[in-house]
Amino acid sequence: MRFHKSELAFFVFIAIILAAGGALFYVYGSLSPALETEIQPKFLPLVRQLRFALYLSGGLLAVAIVFGIFFIFPLIRGQATEEGKLRKMTESLSARSETLEHAALTDSLTGMQNRRYFDDALQEYLTEFQRIDKPVGLMILDLDHFKQINDTHGHDVGDEVLRQLANCLRDFTRYHDVVARVGGEEFAIVAPNLDVALLQKLAERIRQAIAQMVIETGNVRLRVTASVGLAVWDKRESADDLYRRADKMLYSAKRQGRNRVCA
Ligand code: GH3
Ligand code: MG
Ligand code: MG
Repeated sequence: MRFHKSELAFFVFIAIILAAGGALFYVYGSLSPALETEIQPKFLPLVRQLRFALYLSGGLLAVAIVFGIFFIFPLIRGQATEEGKLRKMTESLSARSETLEHAALTDSLTGMQNRRYFDDALQEYLTEFQRIDKPVGLMILDLDHFKQINDTHGHDVGDEVLRQLANCLRDFTRYHDVVARVGGEEFAIVAPNLDVALLQKLAERIRQAIAQMVIETGNVRLRVTASVGLAVWDKRESADDLYRRADKMLYSAKRQGRNRVCA
């Protein structure tokens, strides 16, 4: 059984009263009626008054203890319980809002960050990298002819493709890259500290890994390809402009026949 601080303080308070009662009892005992035969008669009224005062004080202490135990203690206990309940409620509320916040920024199918998270993160990276004067690369990746996969094998198989693609992207990105699912079968990666050449290399490795991926689900076995558009921030354009530029490159990759990287 755990006690609240206020309850422990109450026990100390009762212990002090009991100790005071003990002291009174001891002095009261020393002034016993036997003493009256040994002292001068002129002190007799004083001794009797003293004994009465001690007796009364002892009684009052006893009343204080009873009052404390039966009235004050339940109040303290009630308050401690209320406080505990309130604390638990606040804890569970803040845990809940954390979960909600997480859900609001995560894509439930792939467990990746979503568009909302991505937009904020891209903006933050640009602000930060303006200060330290380092490149920021952006990659937008879109599965080729994904609609056909849904049409041929069903939506569930399509979902499985998206999940496996997400895992592949996680494997190929670094800790500080932001990887998000920004649309149906469209993913985006912010890769800080990569210039065009390095970004192109990374994108090419990812594209090849996707093309080599064999997706097996149920009795279906299939391969997919993706087109990738790249842009490196020119240090002046807005996040939206940078995104538009990478998107244009993605469109070029699609137009040029898909399964390729365009920068
Ligand atoms: P392209 O090569 O030009 O990109 O062709 P595409 O078929 O990939 O592109 P399109 O935009 O025509 O079709 C995208 C498809 O993605 C259509 C939609 O049904 C599918 N899709 C979007 N979100 C999901 C999802 O969460 N799960 C599944 N299974 N399919 C999705
Ligand atoms: Mg597509
Ligand atoms: Mg698309």
